[in-house]
Amino acid sequence: IPLLQVNDLRAKIVESNVPILHGVNLTVNQGEVHAIMGKNGSGKSTFAKVLVGHPDYEVTGGSVVFKGENLLEMEPEERSLSGLFMSFQSPVEIPGVSNNDFLVMAYNARRKKLGLPELGPLECISYLMKKLELVNMKPDFLNRNVNGGFSGGERKRNEILQLAVLGADLAILDEIDSGLDVDALKDVASAVNQILTPQNSLMMITHYRRILDLLKPTHVHVMDKGKIARSGDISMVETIEAEGYETVSTST
Ligand code: ADP
Ligand code: MG
Ligand code: MG
Repeated sequence: IPLLQVNDLRAKIVESNVPILHGVNLTVNQGEVHAIMGKNGSGKSTFAKVLVGHPDYEVTGGSVVFKGENLLEMEPEERSLSGLFMSFQSPVEIPGVSNNDFLVMAYNARRKKLGLPELGPLECISYLMKKLELVNMKPDFLNRNVNGGFSGGERKRNEILQLAVLGADLAILDEIDSGLDVDALKDVASAVNQILTPQNSLMMITHYRRILDLLKPTHVHVMDKGKIARSGDISMVETIEAEGYETVSTST
């Protein structure tokens, strides 16, 4: 069975009742890397947020099955514990809670869900150190408050650190490459490539070819007006770069 099966997913904004997703269909199998591209405002971020259960949106139709279970019936925290990762949406700075404590808490919660014993403080340190190395970050990063004064690049690295620590069956990265300088982009891509195995999958939203060349998607989709308008392989990116989204979205 597919890892993720999205059928005719429809969703609206709770506050305004404005429909945004108009029937998204997508199948993701283990080991696949899916890139979602498309114009600004086409619904890419909304799709990602609906998958993780963001409270701003209400599902009005369709179905989502993740690892054989009805994802739409699960609480956001349950989705995350069951292996669906999306970088925490601009989490508020939590005074007095270090990045370290936050990661340990989240990781032990995930271990518990997986039936593994909690890690003690020392085991945690060595585990986290390995993960820091993976994203090429200095250990003092762990002592800072959660989200406390991170620069744009640090925030992106921190998202990947969270993914590396928690692990995931399906990771969703929304514009992880935007605003990164070349070195940071390489670090992020190399970390993601090390996290990826034939057992897990990635869905990344991006506008840029640079990260696609590094992460080599197996599938590329173009979203348009709340639907996936076109799917193909990496060669579609060249058409998009040459002709823009319009031709790709409207031709068949
Ligand atoms: P993309 O990520 O493809 O740029 P989004 O999913 O962020 O697009 O947004 C799709 C459309 O829905 C946009 O017109 C956006 O302004 C609107 N939208 C999304 N979320 C909200 C929200 N919480 N409140 C108001 N409008 C929203
Ligand atoms: Mg977006
Ligand atoms: Mg790999």
